[in-house]
Amino acid sequence: MKHQRAARPSLALPIAAFAAMTLALGAVPASASAAPPPPAPPSAPPSVDACRLPAAVGGLGSGFPVDDQALPAVGTLKAALLLVDFDDHPASPGSAPEAVANLASGAEYLERVSGGRLDVTTTASDGWVRMPEPSTSYPFERGLSYADHVRYIGDAIAAADDTFDFSDVDVVWVTATKEAPNITYSPTTNFLDVTADGNHLTHAVTFGYDQWRWGGLVLAHESGHTLGLPDLYLFEAPPEDPGNYHAAVGGWDLMGLISGAGPEYFAWHRWQLGWIDDDQVVCAGPRRTTSARLAPVARSGDASPGKDAMVVYPLSATRAVVVENRQPVGYDEGIGARGALVYTVDASVRSGEGPVRVVDSTPGSADGLDDAPFAAGSSWTEPTTGAVLTFRAGPAGTLKVTVKP
Ligand SMILES: [Zn+2]
Repeated sequence: MKHQRAARPSLALPIAAFAAMTLALGAVPASASAAPPPPAPPSAPPSVDACRLPAAVGGLGSGFPVDDQALPAVGTLKAALLLVDFDDHPASPGSAPEAVANLASGAEYLERVSGGRLDVTTTASDGWVRMPEPSTSYPFERGLSYADHVRYIGDAIAAADDTFDFSDVDVVWVTATKEAPNITYSPTTNFLDVTADGNHLTHAVTFGYDQWRWGGLVLAHESGHTLGLPDLYLFEAPPEDPGNYHAAVGGWDLMGLISGAGPEYFAWHRWQLGWIDDDQVVCAGPRRTTSARLAPVARSGDASPGKDAMVVYPLSATRAVVVENRQPVGYDEGIGARGALVYTVDASVRSGEGPVRVVDSTPGSADGLDDAPFAAGSSWTEPTTGAVLTFRAGPAGTLKVTVKP
């Protein structure tokens, strides 16, 4: 019995191999041409859908699709930029252009990193808008509540409404004068509930004094939340690494550390946002060796990147290993180590709890995750599956990645 069944696997061979074999046997009955076509080889690469981890938490996260409260990341994002000052901290004369210019670099980041798929149009208020309350009535330094924050945004919109047209606005940006350092930081809400000029406004970011430390990239970080991305720094430092809020991704993504050396968005984020296409994603399966040639992540939005953006190797229904190529180009120009950046994505982990975690190629080194990328010529064994990932240099800064299950 077993011997007879053993003949069947030949049906799984590709057609050409089957024909060659029958010719070699030389005794094929004419009726053989009526045999059913051989089934697809069992080693067919999985569809990219197998790598598109479905969201397993509500709100901001790393699964697909992004939260339904997020604004579209493709198309035009129309922003109202309200410059506000206060009776107790009036803006200095002539300071409006500086405030506009600081945040403009963040909008430029979004346009560049999206490969032009997101077009940000910013309309600034005509000079400074005086808030109805002194700056001290908005307790940014004393535990700002959600109610305080939406009151601040609502006051800014009301103060500007006489001279500003909100009828076509997607997101409201409120930036406080540099003279009010007690407006300390820059939070975001995707749940505003204010109507102005007949438009229901739902998304807002307010920029405080920290923008002068971070630079305009704080706008790009906060806009990441507007578009549905999670925080990748840790809201609580790990017990084994006290005080290290950047233990998950270090400085390798803007959602992890605005001042990091490599603030390009992860390829995974770009895929979530629709900034790279499915055909730039190589989905590795559990039963066949998969290879890809990766362009630097900073080039993935180019009109013709020519090469793949990332390799994804699913570990479970919610987890996957991702490999991308980080080179000192674009916003990554200051990185200290280059090569294959490997990380895990978990679509069941919430914002601020480590939905993305970078694998350190040099665990225990003094540089933390700064030297995390795997250099060309090295390899890594995924500990839960035993899959071996190898990394080799290709031409023009590309990186050849092979996943061998
Ligand atoms: Zn954030």
